[in-house]
Amino acid sequence: MSANAASRLLQHYVDNFRRLPWRSPPGSPPPEPYRVWLSEVMLQQTTVAAVTPRFERFLERWPTIEALAAAPEADVMQEWAGLGYYARARNLIACARAVAAMGGFPASEAELRKLPGIGAYTSAAVAAIAFGEAEVPVDTNVERVVARLHALTDKSAVPAFAKAMMPEGRPGDFAQAMMDLGASICRPRAPLCTQCPLAADCRAFALGTPEAFPTPKPKTIRPQRYGIAWWIERDGLVWLVRRPAKGMLGGMAALPGPDWQDEPVTANAIAWVTHVFTHFALDLTIVPVAEPCGEGWWQPIDRLSEAGLPTLYRRAAEAALAGMTALAA
Ligand code: SF4
Repeated sequence: MSANAASRLLQHYVDNFRRLPWRSPPGSPPPEPYRVWLSEVMLQQTTVAAVTPRFERFLERWPTIEALAAAPEADVMQEWAGLGYYARARNLIACARAVAAMGGFPASEAELRKLPGIGAYTSAAVAAIAFGEAEVPVDTNVERVVARLHALTDKSAVPAFAKAMMPEGRPGDFAQAMMDLGASICRPRAPLCTQCPLAADCRAFALGTPEAFPTPKPKTIRPQRYGIAWWIERDGLVWLVRRPAKGMLGGMAALPGPDWQDEPVTANAIAWVTHVFTHFALDLTIVPVAEPCGEGWWQPIDRLSEAGLPTLYRRAAEAALAGMTALAA
């Protein structure tokens, strides 16, 4: 990237930066690594709008990495409920404990990457934004901007191009400027090229086909799986269990039920929900049962929101309650 293009990009960032609770305004001291790391973990597969209030609540409850490291695992999983991808929450706890034991976050990308749950993207983001290391975190937004600027169909070349584009100094601002440009201007569909500070340097724009870069991934067909959840209700209470620590929704509160399977289930149901996970779709059939089973607890139905149910089971509980009401009518 020419020095001119880089300074246009940075100026565009200064004029338009998004005020987010994990960021520092351009020109001010960098945010704490704890904030950058926590936000980047939360933002994987989850939108900024969904993350913002959850980030603030999380930080109020555990204002430091040491506080998070000392938190009981069940409390963190409960606070994470609804954000999805629960392996992230388990890694979050492991990482917090490792960092607290080390006395703080290491300041280099290479050391950060050795921590649990921290991959190439998060380590580069924390190193660049919190510690000013010359790294470019490449998420899907940055990947799209770089691929279009250089008319790259093959995404594997993007990280090398991204690093070569970085101007001297201000790596944190550069990383965030690229992230913001991808999120708000260089959008997947209908990019706003006429408002883009990099339009004069963009090969995809010059070709007139920005949306052709990078080549889209072929759509994957998700397999269908099936499950049963038991609705066990008594005197305004419902029986909940905790899922095994390993596997899908590991360690999360749930309605009890047998393992999910590949064959459709037939049962006397009161409700059904369909939920799409990354690698499969699940049809969950909700069946009323009289007696509690397995290890669990009675949760007051009017305080279900405090149980930390992940989205699948929250929706299943809502469907079950609607089904029971219809049955009683
Ligand atoms: S000119 Fe258009 S395609 Fe190129 S980087 Fe800017 S928004 Fe993206």
